[in-house]
Amino acid sequence: MIRVRFAPSPTGFLHIGGARTFIFNWLYARHNGGAMILRIDDTDVERNTEASLQSIFAGLRWLDLPWDELYKQSDRLALHRQIADAILHKGLAYRDFTPAQSGEIDKSGAHQGAQGAWLFHAEMRNLSREESDRRASAGEPFALRFRVPRDSETHVTFNDGVFGEQSKATADIEDFALLRSDGMPTYHLGSCADDADLRISHIIRGQEHLANTFKHILIFEAAGLTPPQFAHLPLLVAPDGAKLSKRKHGPVVSVTTYRDAGFLPEAFVNFLCLLGWSPKNDREQMPRQELVDAFSFEGIHRSNAVVNFKDDDPFDPKALWLNAEYIRTMPAAELSERLLPVVHEAGFAATPQKMAQITPLIQERIKLLRDVLTVADFFFVEQLPPYDPAELIPQKGDAAMALRALESGRTVLGSAGFTHDELDAALRKAAGELGIKTGQMFQPIRVAVCGRKNAPPLFGTLEALGRETSLARIEAAIENIRAIENIQAVEKLKSI
Ligand code: GLU
Repeated sequence: MIRVRFAPSPTGFLHIGGARTFIFNWLYARHNGGAMILRIDDTDVERNTEASLQSIFAGLRWLDLPWDELYKQSDRLALHRQIADAILHKGLAYRDFTPAQSGEIDKSGAHQGAQGAWLFHAEMRNLSREESDRRASAGEPFALRFRVPRDSETHVTFNDGVFGEQSKATADIEDFALLRSDGMPTYHLGSCADDADLRISHIIRGQEHLANTFKHILIFEAAGLTPPQFAHLPLLVAPDGAKLSKRKHGPVVSVTTYRDAGFLPEAFVNFLCLLGWSPKNDREQMPRQELVDAFSFEGIHRSNAVVNFKDDDPFDPKALWLNAEYIRTMPAAELSERLLPVVHEAGFAATPQKMAQITPLIQERIKLLRDVLTVADFFFVEQLPPYDPAELIPQKGDAAMALRALESGRTVLGSAGFTHDELDAALRKAAGELGIKTGQMFQPIRVAVCGRKNAPPLFGTLEALGRETSLARIEAAIENIRAIENIQAVEKLKSI
């Protein structure tokens, strides 16, 4: 049975790298008919925050990839201590009574490895069992450390699902802690104890944990547990190759930024999948089931995956392109349902019927859900901002032509049937009667009702706005043009 887990620590918001790890685990579980476990690694009580926990849940829920089981490490401390005790009793760990300095174990004056790295305190490592037991029963605080083999022969090896054969001499691994001096399990211990107890078959996580895996294998073996399979995922990096971080790169690394900007979760999931994984079919836009079907470790790269944001453009062009494609190809009724809350949150009072009418008009014009607020704002506002008179004037025309087009438009909109096709026919006919081009007829009307030249198709727009609003706006534009005409007349008189 395939069982995988995503194990975030609630010490920060959900990072896009974390989201990708979650997604790859989820895909692996679904591809193999296995279980996806969400485990909250909350043993670092000083750094945990409720806000981080909530942001992780919010981010993961938004991705809309449901997990099957949920655990919190803080509920499982007894198990962690039990495993620690078992390792201690086998003599494979020892108590380190070195006084803690500001929470950290004092690592000064100890054995150092080849690169000067701290390895162990000989004095603590060599304490007799009796002495160790005596000091512990006297209540002296201690950290529990793994007694890493110190001969020059022993190696820890494993075969990583992505990075292949890995091996490290134990002589280069420090006597890492299993329990901190406050009695809490370290990440290494808690993680291994839970992975074993939850029968995790595959650990799929970021490459930054690859080096930890040697320690984890030592723990599994010392506790008499079978290690799971491991697969490490390439790092996500900025265009300059730097590892993504909130401190350096800001909101672009946070999942909620994408949600709030109007990405669709399915498009965002699709985008994250392409960071470090190339599906065999070489397709980029892949709906969820296709991702599940295609997923395997084979297509995962070993090289870092670049997220292509820029200083002035926070979103990777591929993410935007994918999002626009998902928007363009989704049924309009569904898109309409997704747009409605965005419009409401911005304070506009659109009804579902109204939104359903507007959606097909803007579907090809938006890349992000939030674009509805700039592309379709004029549908929702009571009052348009003041016109730019130059925009009301048609190409190769003048204020007088704009006025004629608008006045004729007013007559048509006041009398013709108010459907797309009827408006289309009647406005074309009116242009013919005025002896002007259809474009010259439509532009002043479009600017009158939308407030700008660059706007969705005219007849559908008029239909969605309705007769009353359309006429009121044309009236306002007519007044605007008359004002220009008056100014021009005055200028003309002045120049005589
Ligand atoms: N809590 C660890 C982290 O957030 C989990 C790492 C792992 O998957 O083992 O990095």
